This record gives sequence, C-alpha cells and structure tokens, in this order.
Amino acid sequence: MNASPRNPADIARETIRRLAVRHLPPTPDHYQEIYAEIAGSANVEAFPERAMKQMAVELAHVAAQPGLERALALAVAQKDWAQFSKALAAPLDDFAAQQRLTWNTLIRDLFRQWENTASHLSTAQKREALEHVLQSAGGNPATLFARLENLNKSWAQSRDEAAARNLELSDPFFPASEPATLEAPANELLPELREIFAYALENCLHAFLNEDERLARECHDLVEEVRYANTGKQFQALERKLKGFVFRLELLDEDHRELRDSLLKLLRLLLENVGELVLDDQWLHGQIEVVRDIVNQPLSQKSLDDAEARIREVIFKQSQLKLGLQEAQNALKAMLAGFVDHLNHFTGATTDYHDKISAIADRISHADKLADLESLLPEVMRETRVIQTSTRKSRDELRATQARVRETEARVRELERELAQTSKLVRHDQLTGALNRRGLEECYEKEAKRSERRRTPICLALLDIDNFKSLNDALGHSAGDEALVHLTQVVRGTLRPQDSFARFGGEEFILLFPESTLQQAAVAMTRIQRELTRHIFLHHNQKVLITFSAGIALRQPGEARDALIHRADAAMYEAKQSGKNRVVIAPSPEAAKTLPPAA
Ligand code: GH3
Ligand code: MG
Ligand code: MG
Repeated sequence: MNASPRNPADIARETIRRLAVRHLPPTPDHYQEIYAEIAGSANVEAFPERAMKQMAVELAHVAAQPGLERALALAVAQKDWAQFSKALAAPLDDFAAQQRLTWNTLIRDLFRQWENTASHLSTAQKREALEHVLQSAGGNPATLFARLENLNKSWAQSRDEAAARNLELSDPFFPASEPATLEAPANELLPELREIFAYALENCLHAFLNEDERLARECHDLVEEVRYANTGKQFQALERKLKGFVFRLELLDEDHRELRDSLLKLLRLLLENVGELVLDDQWLHGQIEVVRDIVNQPLSQKSLDDAEARIREVIFKQSQLKLGLQEAQNALKAMLAGFVDHLNHFTGATTDYHDKISAIADRISHADKLADLESLLPEVMRETRVIQTSTRKSRDELRATQARVRETEARVRELERELAQTSKLVRHDQLTGALNRRGLEECYEKEAKRSERRRTPICLALLDIDNFKSLNDALGHSAGDEALVHLTQVVRGTLRPQDSFARFGGEEFILLFPESTLQQAAVAMTRIQRELTRHIFLHHNQKVLITFSAGIALRQPGEARDALIHRADAAMYEAKQSGKNRVVIAPSPEAAKTLPPAA
C-alpha cells in the first residue's frame, strides 16, 4: 500500500481517482472533502462562505434586524467565525427571552382592560395609546411586551380610579359616554369595598332619609343591589341607579339648606321685631300665630315662604297701626284720669251734701218753731242745687268721654281698613283671601327659579268666570262678591299644597302648578270644574252654577312671567270663543309660530 501522497499534485491526482472509485459527482465540495482526507487535514475546516452569507440574510430577515445582516456579512467577508457567532448571540438571547413571554395572557388582559375601561376612556384614546406603544417599541418584542404590560396596568389603574370617582359623585345629565359591555365578573369589585359601600348606604345614609320615604326605599334597594350585583349588566344598572340616587340626594340637600335658611330668616325677622314689640304683648300674638301655624304642619319650602310673607304683612300692619293705637290709648288714659278726678270730686261733694243734709235733718227734728224750719229750707235747697249741678256736670263729662272713646276706636278701625286696602306689602286679596298680584309675583319668581334649577316643568293657568256680569246684574254686586269667595274656597279645596292661587283682577284668577306637565295641569283644572258642580254656590237658597273658561301654558326655559301669562290668556280667549266653560292648552311658542295664518 502506498503511503499517502505528500505533494499537492499527487494529492490532486489521488483525489480524482477516489472520486471515480467512490462514484461521487465531481463537485467542488466533494473534491475539497476528499482532498482534505488525503492530505490529512480533514479537521481544518474550510470557511463555508457561501452558505454563511445565505444564512446571514435569512437570519437577519427572520429576526427583523437589518443591523444583524450587516454584522454577519462582515464576519463572513472576513471569514471570522468567532465574530459571526458573536453577532448571532444577541438576537438569539432575545429570541430565548421571547420564548419566556406569555403573550397569550398579555393579550387576554389587554382585551379585558380595553373593554373594562369603556366607561371612562374612549376608543380613540385607547387606540392612540396602543399605537404609541407599538411604534415606540421599535420592533423589539421584549420591549413591546414590557410596554404592553405597562399599558395594561395603567388601564387597570384608571378603571379603579374611575370606579372610585363614580361612587363619589355623578351627574345624571352627563352619563358615561359609552356603556361598558363586558360581562365583568363580580369579584373584580373587591368584596371588602363592596361591603363597606353597602354598609355606608345602609347605616350612614339611610338614617338621614327617614323624612323622605321614597329616597329611603331607594337607598334600601340599592344596598341589596350593591351586595348582590354580579354581572356586567347588573353593574351597569347599579351605576345608573346610583347616579340617579346621588342626583336626588343633592336635591334633598338643597331643599334642606333652603328650609334651614328660610327658618333662620323667619327667626331673624321675629327677633328684629321683638324690640318693637315691647309696648304690649298683643303685638306678638299676630306673629306668634303665624309661626304656630307653620310648626303645626310638615315643613315645606312653600309654607315657610308663605309664613315669611305673612309675618312681614303682620309686622307692616302692626307698625302702621301702632302709632294710631298708641295715640288712642293715651287719649283713653287721659280721659279716664279726668273722669276719676271728677268722680273723686263728685264723691267728695256728695259726702259733703250727705253730711249737711244729716245735720239739717237733725236740726229739723230738734226744731220747736216753724220759723226755725223756715230758715232751714233755703239751706236744703241750696245744698241740693249744688249737688245737682255737680251730678249734671259729671254726667256731661262722662258722655263726652264716651263719645271721644268711640271716636278713637272708629279711627283705629278706619286705619286698619285703609291699611288693608292700600298697603303694597299685603300679598293677599282682601275679598277672597287668594294671593293678590304682588303675592303672585313673589310666588312666581320663586317657583320659576326652582323649576329651572330642578329642571321640572311648571304650568300657569288663567281662569275667567263666565258671564259674571250677568250674575252681578241679576243678583247684585254683593252676590257677585260671595260668588268670588265661593270659587276661591272650592279651588283651594282641590289644589295640592304646592300649587298657588291668585286673584289677577276682577273675576280673573291665576293658578300656578309647579312640577306639573300640561296634561297634569289640565286634569287639575277639570277637577275644579267638577268640584264647582258638586259644591254649587247658593245665594239666598238659590242655586247658582259658576263656570269658567281657562287657558293653560307650560313655562318655557327662561320665559318671562308676562309672556307666559299672555300665552295662557290667549288660550283662555280661545276657550271663551269656542263656547266657554272649557279649558284650552296653549301651544308651545315654537309650535305657535308655525301655525298657518288665520283665514
Ligand atoms: P265673559 O264670560 O266673557 O268673561 O263675560 P263676563 O261677564 O264674565 O266678563 P266681563 O268682563 O264682561 O264682566 C266682568 C264683570 O265682573 C264686570 C265687573 O262688574 C265684575 N266684577 C269685577 N270685579 C268684581 C268684584 O270684585 N265684585 C263683583 N261683584 N263684580 C266684579
Ligand atoms: Mg274677565
Ligand atoms: Mg268673565
């Protein structure tokens, strides 16, 4: 056997021979392999340049790193295996790390947060945040994973904060922009938090609501729902109810504040007047009477407003009457003092007379002669005349005093009557006791403001008695007056406490219906019509049916009182035109504008 050839020509020859013997195709790779075998250099590996270039391109593509392609290409060009391995190490580490990332969990969490945040983050906001993360990760999966995880956490946090905010406050007029649709599992709301919330509703808030049955019941129902809500739908319903509840609580709070302010105002009014009331405690009676009336009925804003107005009325009347009455009192005192003086004098005179007459009687009984008696007679006559004069004088003075007292009393009565008729502060109509125009104005301002604040409807009706002139003509003016009083009593008996009734003038009246729609106000007016036929007006036992025509208008936001009355008046006119004894609803100003012109 030949020893292995040593020189390259021999090696080459032997290589070709072995290729032929082994039936191998004469490719460069096979040639190179067999050549190395013969030369004994099989362990000296040739640098696989072509294959490695190909590999570099593919790796860089898979790893989506153009930098990697460049680093690998350089290593191949320099035939530097070590450099090549080093360039590959970094993406391989990344790849290994990627294998550890739990993408499935991350994506599921992201989806959940995407939907859970629907109530406080818009889709656009979330999309923007997500795009920002995708771009900023620069194609690096690990960075992307970490950033997506952070995004997930921040969404979860924002959701907790929003939930906390929702418990604190809510505005029923601005509901959440998009309702949550996910069937969120109940255990997402921490059980302790849920219980604390239910407890607060049940034990803290409920106690404050004992005066408001409806809210107390609502609170009780909410407690149940807070404890047992489980699905996303139930939570959504709960959220809606809570918002409504909070809104009603705010209104209640506002009411309480208003009531307290009004009570304080009343108290202040009374206190301010105590100084003025020292003359005589009768001054206090009028005011105390008003306050007693209020505390005997459930407190309401309207009763307090009325009470304030009534106290002002009483105070004003009292202050006006005080001067006149004080004068009258002084005059009476002076008269009495004069009379007592005179009585003293008279008593003195009669005692004197009595003594003198006794003495004369004594002398008569001891008289022996007629002459003695003769001298006594003129004396008796003189004394009797003196006493007669004195008695007459007393009687005249007594009469004069009586006349002056009567005069003073008449002046006081006149003063009272005048005051009632002319005082601008008086809010009630003297004949019927209904509010007068001034009373109506005050009432309207308050109710209109309240209706705007609470966003509740308020209606105004104008009522005009039918054929009132004929009634006056047939039965007399005073029968007409009685009819007005009768109507007022019937109306008062059918209205709710919060409604107001005012005499607008003559036989026209205005009714205010707070928190009422047109339909509700119309029902109230029809009820009055019915009651007038049930409680018929009797004049000297003669039955007189009072009917009226009325127009009702719903106040538009910001509508002025006169404009509203004008619309109700127009509707009332229409009721008259179409046959009287009926109620007509005024169209809204917008609808009225679009009505076709009258033919
Ligand atoms: P219509 O059905 O169209 O309303 O007819 P009417 O007769 O009711 O209305 P008109 O306006 O013609 O007459 C109203 C009458 O009301 C005239 C007036 O004398 C009378 N009146 C106004 N105020 C009072 C009052 O305080 N007492 C009395 N008794 N009558 C009054
Ligand atoms: Mg009229
Ligand atoms: Mg009339």
